[in-house]
Amino acid sequence: MAEITTKCLIIGAGPAGYTAAIYAGRANLEPVLVEGQQPGGQLITTTDVENFPGYPEGVAGPKMMEDMRAQAQRFNVRMLGGEVTDVDFSERPFKVKVNGGTTLITAETVIIATGASAKYLGLPDEERYRGMGVSACATCDGFFFRNRKVAVVGGGDTACEEAIYLANLASQVYMIVRKGFLRASKYMQAKVAENPKIEVLYNTETMSLYGADILEGAHLVTKRGTENENQYDLAIDGFFLAIGHKPNTEVFAPFIRLDEQGYIITEGNSTVTNVEGVFAAGDVADPVYRQAVSAAGMGCRAALDAERFLVMHS
Ligand code: NDP
Repeated sequence: MAEITTKCLIIGAGPAGYTAAIYAGRANLEPVLVEGQQPGGQLITTTDVENFPGYPEGVAGPKMMEDMRAQAQRFNVRMLGGEVTDVDFSERPFKVKVNGGTTLITAETVIIATGASAKYLGLPDEERYRGMGVSACATCDGFFFRNRKVAVVGGGDTACEEAIYLANLASQVYMIVRKGFLRASKYMQAKVAENPKIEVLYNTETMSLYGADILEGAHLVTKRGTENENQYDLAIDGFFLAIGHKPNTEVFAPFIRLDEQGYIITEGNSTVTNVEGVFAAGDVADPVYRQAVSAAGMGCRAALDAERFLVMHS
């Protein structure tokens, strides 16, 4: 087992984690950053980011994350591949295991920046057809559905963004929206409305999926439970989930206080958690804003909080 000791361990490689690393690195904390299975976080699967200051023309999500990583690397940050599988926050220094114990990290402070992951509806068929038509990432898998029919589930900004992206590839895109309206911003709604390849199916839910080996369609129901309820089959080759995210906090749950949705609760306007010396930043602790720029800002605050903590406890 490899053993590593650090003043500041950062878990997660999205905007919050990399920004915390830049600040902690510049403060000479020689931080270690565990990057997880998908370095770059959710932005790896985002197309254009047009609202992050400093990119007047916008930037592709993966490119922005490459830039953040490269910036962190300038400041003596040790990047480690792999996933945190076990933590012991019962006493300081904290103990964190990576990849089931192949690496043991002993850390004086920890910044949790593990973000959030895509939600699924919970239908058994989603598992059955995963990778065979079911996906939660249009930019990863859209390419396989050129000139095919696909559906996107959800009515938020993500669903609209995914539908617009897929409309560039697929022959037809349906949006399956459980309510009678889209929750997305007016701007995204207008983009969807003006796209001739996108049809929004309102008041519609998915009961199950069908297909011999690969996905061939969805059993849908409109106005479920009313006298106008209507069940029908929609022939599609791709079924994309875009119904929000859940915070990646399971491994921390025995020690860290979470809200009812699983987000880490931080104290007031700080990044301080219920465990002294453990801080949280980004989507993992932010059910409200969930933006790259707000995550980056929180990463900065977490590194400053960790630095102050170390000064006070050395
Ligand atoms: P949201 O929570 O905003 O939207 C989730 C959507 O999925 C809603 O339409 C919701 O329906 C629907 N949904 C949730 N659960 C189910 C279910 N079980 N069955 C069917 N439908 C379901 O999530 P997003 O990921 O879209 O956005 C998250 C945040 O990120 C938002 O603040 C958004 O504005 C932001 N964002 C910004 C972007 C940008 O600025 N470019 C791009 C993408 C996201 P209902 O409305 O009925 O609850």
